[in-house]
Amino acid sequence: MPLPGSLLVDGTWAWARTGRRLRVLDPVDGSLVVEHDAAGEDDVDRAVAAARAALAGPWSRTTPGERADLLRRTADLLLRDREPVAALETRDTGKTLRESRADVDDVVAVLRYYADLAVVDVTRVVDAGPGVRSRVVVEPAGVCALVTPWNYPLLQLSWKVAPALAAGCTAVVKPSELTPLTSAHLVGLLAEAGLPPGVVGLVLGDGAVGAALVRHPDVDLVSFTGGTATGTDVLRAAAGTVKRVVCELGGTNANVVFPDVDVDVVVDNALHAAFLHAGQVCSAGSRLLVHADVHDAVVAGLAAGAEGIRLGDGRDDRTQSGPMISAGQRARTEAAVAGALAEGAVLAAGGRRPEEPALRDGFFYRPTVLTGCHAGMAVVREEVFGPLLTVETFHDEDEAVALADGPQAGLAGAVWTADVARGERVAAALRCGTVWVNDFHPYVPGAEWGGRRRSGTGRELGPTGLAEYRETKHVWRRLEPVRSGWLG
Ligand code: NAD
Repeated sequence: MPLPGSLLVDGTWAWARTGRRLRVLDPVDGSLVVEHDAAGEDDVDRAVAAARAALAGPWSRTTPGERADLLRRTADLLLRDREPVAALETRDTGKTLRESRADVDDVVAVLRYYADLAVVDVTRVVDAGPGVRSRVVVEPAGVCALVTPWNYPLLQLSWKVAPALAAGCTAVVKPSELTPLTSAHLVGLLAEAGLPPGVVGLVLGDGAVGAALVRHPDVDLVSFTGGTATGTDVLRAAAGTVKRVVCELGGTNANVVFPDVDVDVVVDNALHAAFLHAGQVCSAGSRLLVHADVHDAVVAGLAAGAEGIRLGDGRDDRTQSGPMISAGQRARTEAAVAGALAEGAVLAAGGRRPEEPALRDGFFYRPTVLTGCHAGMAVVREEVFGPLLTVETFHDEDEAVALADGPQAGLAGAVWTADVARGERVAAALRCGTVWVNDFHPYVPGAEWGGRRRSGTGRELGPTGLAEYRETKHVWRRLEPVRSGWLG
C-alpha cells in the first residue's frame, strides 16, 4: 500500500469513511494504484482544529533555529528516500524517473533554502522620535490551507510547506486527488523529523475537499496552485472570511525567437520548453513566436525533433517523455488540436496517439506542433496543458512584444537573441513573473516565482515566498507614559 492513510489528523493516520470513492491511476497503463474515500467536511474540521490547537502549543515556542533544524532533518530524510520517492512520483504522475529525481533534489534545495532563511532576523527598528521605541516584528500568519496540483506534487508542496514552517505557521495539506502519494510521504517525513502532532495535517480528496478547506473560518491563509478557473473560485471563497490568498495559476507562455540565433540550439530548447513532462508544466513554452526569417528552419527542426521524441514508461531509461496525467486531460488536448485545425492551423508533427501497442492503455499523446497559428485562436489564448506547441510568426521587435503579451501570459516568458540590449528590452517589456533570456525552465529557490494578471497573485520562493506566511506587527512603546493632550 503506497499510502499510510487518507487523513493525517493530530499526528494519527486514518482512512476517511465517506463512501465517496476516489481512484488513483498509474497513467502509464491506467492500472489502479490505490482507491480510497475522499475526506468529509468533518475530517476537514478536525484537521483544521488540530492545526489551530498546534498553533498555540509547543510549536509556538520553537525558535527559528529549531524550525530550521527540522527542515534540514526533513531534507536529509528525503535524500535517504530519494529513489523510492522518485519512483513513487513517476508512478503517480507518469513523468520520467530522471525528472522525478530532479524534483526530489529541488525539494531538498527548497527545504534547505528556507532553513537558512528562517533564522534571518527581519525585525526592523523604526525611528519614531524621542521617548519612543518603535519596531516592526513578524509573526506566523496562522493556520494555512495548502492546496496543490498534480503536475509537480512533491515540488509544489515543498514551495508551500517549507516557508510555512519556517515562519512558524501550521497547515493542512490537500494534494491533487490524482497524485497524493509523495505528498503523504513528505508529510510523514516531517513527522519523522520531529514535527509535533497537528502542525501539518493532510486531507485527501477532490475539489470539494479543497473548497471546504478554503472556506473554513478557522483557516487564516490559503496557498493554492492550480488552474485559473479554480483559482478564481478559491479567491471568491476566501473572500467570505477575508483570508490571505496566494494563487499560482496557469498560463500560455510565450517563447520568442529572433533571427540572430543558433537555430539548432533554439529548436532543442523550444522542444524542451514545450514538451517537458508532456507539456504539463505551468511555465511550459507552449507559444513559440518566431521571426519570419528563421521560421521555416525552426519549424523543420521542431517537426523532426517532436516526431523523434521517444514516449514510454518513465521507469525506462530510454523514455524521453511519459504519458499525460489522465484520459480527460488527453481528451482536452485532442479537442484543442481539432479546434485549432478547424480554425486554420497546420499540423507539423504529432496530432495523434502513439501507434505502439505497449502504450495503448496509457494516457499517451504524441508531441504536437501546430504552425500558422495566431493570437485569435482559442489554442493560443487559453492554456491547454498538454504536449502541444503553437507557432506564430512576427516581423519586428514591437510586434513580438505585443504578441507575447497575451491575457494569459502572466507567468513566464523567454526571449532568444544574440543582441544583449534587445534581450534586456524584451525582458523588461514582458509582463510576467519570470523571464528567461537565452534559456528556458530553470529556477532557483532564492528567486521569486509566480504570476501576474490571470496567472496569479502573490509569490512563492525567495524571501517574498516566506513573507507571504508572516504577519507584520508594529510595536510602539512609549518609555514614559504622558497625557495625550488631545482632549484637554
Ligand atoms: P486544478 O485547479 O484542477 O486543481 C488544483 C487543486 O485544487 C487540486 O488539489 C484540486 O483538487 C483542488 N481544487 C479543485 N477545485 C477546488 C475548489 N473549488 N476549491 C479548492 N480547491 C479545489 O489544477 P490541476 O489540474 O490540478 O493543475 C493544473 C493547473 O495548475 C494548470 O493550470 C497549471 O498551469 C497550474 N499550475 C500552476 C503552477 C504555478 O506555479 N503557477 C504550478 C503548477 C501548476
